[in-house]
Amino acid sequence: MLVDQYGRSHTYLRISVTDRCNLRCTYCMPADGINLRAKDAILTFDEIVQISEMLVEFGIRKIRITGGEPLVRKEVENLCGRLAQIRRLQTLALSTNGANLSDKAAALRRAGVSHVNVSLDTLRPERFQSITRRDRFSDVMRGIEAAVSEEFTSLKINTVVIRGFNDDEILDFVRLAVSLDVNARFIEYMPFPGNDWRKERYVPSNEIRSIIETKYSLEAKQQEESVHGPAADFRVIGTNATIGFISTMSAPFCYGCNRLRLSSDGRLRVCLFAQEGIDLKTPLRNGASAQELQALILGALADKWEKHPGEEELEKKTHGHMIGIGG
Ligand code: SF4
Repeated sequence: MLVDQYGRSHTYLRISVTDRCNLRCTYCMPADGINLRAKDAILTFDEIVQISEMLVEFGIRKIRITGGEPLVRKEVENLCGRLAQIRRLQTLALSTNGANLSDKAAALRRAGVSHVNVSLDTLRPERFQSITRRDRFSDVMRGIEAAVSEEFTSLKINTVVIRGFNDDEILDFVRLAVSLDVNARFIEYMPFPGNDWRKERYVPSNEIRSIIETKYSLEAKQQEESVHGPAADFRVIGTNATIGFISTMSAPFCYGCNRLRLSSDGRLRVCLFAQEGIDLKTPLRNGASAQELQALILGALADKWEKHPGEEELEKKTHGHMIGIGG
């Protein structure tokens, strides 16, 4: 039912449960932070479950919990437990920076989270400190170890590749993936308000791939997941590891977009780069029916563009802060 004018069926909902974070990554969180949303402006767990149940009725089959940093929201594992009970939801996933993961991994697994992505842009503690403005590298590595031992259905390490910062660590991340039997995913650097994106600083996926292929052989991998994500995945031949590329800038994949994004203040975006989202919180709190909310959502989908605006337009950064959207 969540089909736009280009025939794209939206089956994947990303829910940002907070705009707070325990790190200060330079490409996401402006140095002087952002105006955090007041507590009553944030959706309650009941409201998140209500909206999720309604959207699963409309066709959503995969939910990913994001932030800010979702593991800083108190008892987020309880929210996960309630979402996992929603009939017809196939996949419950979570994206985290890993800093609090060692404390939460077991509880998330028990709650029904099956897919975990950990954002990590360097394997060098001093660089970690410079890009996150926090000294939590060892906590993140402990978090990854805890997630490996919990044997989630899928564990991915997401790395934003920035030229002149961490593009010399690409092979190190592949080695990590091979040693842990997990997926290493390389994300092209994208322009967002508050970050210092410039064309010469983003490394296109084909360049990342050619660096990897100096040491490893890759084989294209079929999409196994019922609800696909944005990455092009490859098997690392001779290992159990896989590699993924998210090429939003060099090879946009909007033709197959299946994603909707709900921000922590109840705004639904039909695209990562949308300037605004439609407000679901106010009508929900005013007792709107599922049909009324559905009409709002279908209205937004009817206006969804075919593909994101090109580099030049994105460089103007008129879209929202990454921290408030949740990637
Ligand atoms: S840029 Fe927007 S339209 Fe394109 S794939 Fe991402 S969310 Fe979908």
